[in-house]
Amino acid sequence: MTQPAQQPPRNPRIAIIGAGMSGLCMAFVLRRAGITDITIYEKADSVGGTWRDNTYPGLSCDVPSRFYQFTFAPKPDWSHVFSPGAEIRDYFTSVARDHDLEKHIRFGTEVVHAEFGQGHWRLRTSHGDTQEVDFLISATGILHHPRYPTIQGLDDFGGAVFHSARWDHSVPLRGKRVAVVGTGSTGVQIVCGLAGTAGRVELFQRSAQWVLPVPNPSYTRFGKTLHRRFPKLGARIYESYRAGFQFLAGALIKPGKRRRLIGALCRANLRTVRDPKLREALTPDYQPMCRRLIFSGRFYRAMQRPDVGLVTENIDHVTSNGIVTTDGRLHEVDVIALATGFDAHAFLRPMNLVGENGRTIDEAWSDGPRAHLTVALPDFPNFFMLMGPHSPVGNYSLTAIAETQADHILGWVDRWRRGEFATVAPTRQATDAFNTEMRSAMPGTVWTTGCTSWYLGKDGVPELWPWTPGAHRTRLSTDTSGYDLRVTADRP
Ligand code: NAP
Repeated sequence: MTQPAQQPPRNPRIAIIGAGMSGLCMAFVLRRAGITDITIYEKADSVGGTWRDNTYPGLSCDVPSRFYQFTFAPKPDWSHVFSPGAEIRDYFTSVARDHDLEKHIRFGTEVVHAEFGQGHWRLRTSHGDTQEVDFLISATGILHHPRYPTIQGLDDFGGAVFHSARWDHSVPLRGKRVAVVGTGSTGVQIVCGLAGTAGRVELFQRSAQWVLPVPNPSYTRFGKTLHRRFPKLGARIYESYRAGFQFLAGALIKPGKRRRLIGALCRANLRTVRDPKLREALTPDYQPMCRRLIFSGRFYRAMQRPDVGLVTENIDHVTSNGIVTTDGRLHEVDVIALATGFDAHAFLRPMNLVGENGRTIDEAWSDGPRAHLTVALPDFPNFFMLMGPHSPVGNYSLTAIAETQADHILGWVDRWRRGEFATVAPTRQATDAFNTEMRSAMPGTVWTTGCTSWYLGKDGVPELWPWTPGAHRTRLSTDTSGYDLRVTADRP
């Protein structure tokens, strides 16, 4: 008996929004699977996302470069354990070039509206043109929208003022008095980057931070040659970092020895600050790791330099020549760098997304961003997210998370290619159950031990994945429950 001829897999039309790290990862994973009809919309004129936008002095990634890279694009010649930002941006540029992803990118084109209907997504761009696709994948990043503080008089400042993610390189800093406002990972890196270059650095601290001292040696030529000759070595090192960060994640999600160990290392680091008054001022009033842990082997050394100062009084207002704190003191400065963070809950915004039955993203997220398994949303069929709500982003390699999420999404795209369904979306019940499961796991995590941070949603509950990144990987590679598959194009 002759077998019926097998249908060739369908070739889906896919739009990815964003050519940053996760958008490139998704495009690569789709291409590797033989999918070719891919458009990547990128509103800027180059790739790299956060690594394109952030160029401040001292910028590096506090996740080791041999772990903050794609497994499918290992780079043997990273310069440092924690390589500088420009090198990371160049890495993503070369991934786009070397894997022939650039031809899919429409630079300078923002998706302003996307609406689902009759089994497809119809996108409208900032140029007014439209495109119809079978799958819409958002890779718009988490920390994308700078948060500007409302400080009275800031607009009247006579010198330069800019946000860390909009660094103005036309402003000379050598010999200048620079105020750095904010003590998150960014503020700490800027202080380390400017100390010794600027005439004086004044760090305005509202809350102190715990800092884990991690040295950042450069790689030798011999080490790079070894990595080039023996690619398996890089893969081994990647896996050992994965295990190390899994250990750290264990400390984040439940109390115990690991948490105490990391806390003790942070406290020992703080003791390297010799002046007791400065040490006290740099001592946080919450548990280590409650906020995103800062990795820096240089911060306390920088803070003890004579040309670096710490201001712990709150900022009252800004005048034409400096910052006045609530004790009435004027701190004269030439430049104000705002390391005041990002709106971490503005996922996808300002894009206007309309799912089934006219349900908008604002309606779906009226109580805050939510997602099923970190990647999908009820009422938004054939729509997926990378770095979406509840992703395990605290102190972990986001490239590893992007690969996990991209593989999960590819799983659905592959099933669509085989004709198993026309549309797929998680059910509301499954998404609610997943959220309940996450919330009930939250109390053991360090993020709930009493501090403010960008991790917290507007109800004060952390919006992060409350288990290990390993559990995220296992769950996303095995769990396809809770999804509703429809075989006809539109839903009733
Ligand atoms: P952040 O952690 O949100 O820190 C913002 C800082 O600005 C806080 O210290 C905050 O004080 C302060 N601030 C805000 N408004 C202020 C005001 N009106 N007056 C005085 N201080 C004010 O932001 P971030 O440092 O940009 O870091 C955000 C995230 O980006 C990090 O947690 C990390 O995930 C990522 N990041 C990663 C790296 C890396 O190497 N991988 C590097 C940089 C950033 P309060 O704490 O008192 O609110």
